[in-house]
Amino acid sequence: MTVRKIGGATIEKVEELCAAGFRPNRMFPKFDQQAFDAQKGWMVPDHVEAGSDRLVGSVHTWVVKTGRHTILIDTCLGNDKQRHNAAWNKLDTPFLNRLKACGCPPESVDFVMCTHLHVDHVGWNTKLENGRWVPTFPNARYLFAKREYAHWENERKTKDGVNDGSFDDSVLPIVEAGKAVMIESDHQPDPLLTIKDYPGHTPGSIAINLKDGGKQACFSGDIMHHPIQVYHPDWSSQFCWDQEMSARSRRKLLEDCVETNALLCPAHFPGANAGYIKPHGDSFRIDWDAVT
Ligand SMILES: [Zn+2]
Repeated sequence: MTVRKIGGATIEKVEELCAAGFRPNRMFPKFDQQAFDAQKGWMVPDHVEAGSDRLVGSVHTWVVKTGRHTILIDTCLGNDKQRHNAAWNKLDTPFLNRLKACGCPPESVDFVMCTHLHVDHVGWNTKLENGRWVPTFPNARYLFAKREYAHWENERKTKDGVNDGSFDDSVLPIVEAGKAVMIESDHQPDPLLTIKDYPGHTPGSIAINLKDGGKQACFSGDIMHHPIQVYHPDWSSQFCWDQEMSARSRRKLLEDCVETNALLCPAHFPGANAGYIKPHGDSFRIDWDAVT
């Protein structure tokens, strides 16, 4: 396990899965082969599968320890959940053991924060116990962005299986257990943490900033899925709710990371997982945070 330090706080990535998935022309409606090939040299094999060009993605959570609190940012897919995506269906991973191995047993978690409520960000909110979905982290409060929750709650009134069933098995049981707190961007669960809205991938997508001792990290969820989007921030993914709004938020996030020199910690970047954003022409580049 690699522990990174942000002032007196620590951050650690705990991985659930890492695999090659979509081909880039399917993932990004604005995909351009020449632009992709220009970056391919460094992207293979950590970020792009050799031969197939399929995008490699990790599904992980970030464990943040501030000294006052232990916080999980995004909770991956979870075990035992029925999903249409075969690679995500009825998983049985040792994710909770991996959490324990980095000194984070379930009862030690104070806050669970979801950058948004897609299926791969809420899964471990709950676990199956005697046929019921119960909160995995018994002492945690689960923070959901008010605008995000309201959107999916509204969707559920007219559609079945919202977010591949995850709203029903990984979000609602938290609300019903009285563990959910609906937050807005002025909410500060810990003196070192602040929240900022970057809508577009979903209506209420947020980034969570950790700041201490003159250093900063930014947990950005799916405002970017893949590092090629650092170089091409206008490439929204097919999963973005509003393509144009998502592109604007992505560029804003990258500008904010340049300005604050924050370590960008997205939810799905494999390899070194995190890096520093630098201006690069009229776009950006990423300097990976070397880890051992
Ligand atoms: Zn995701």
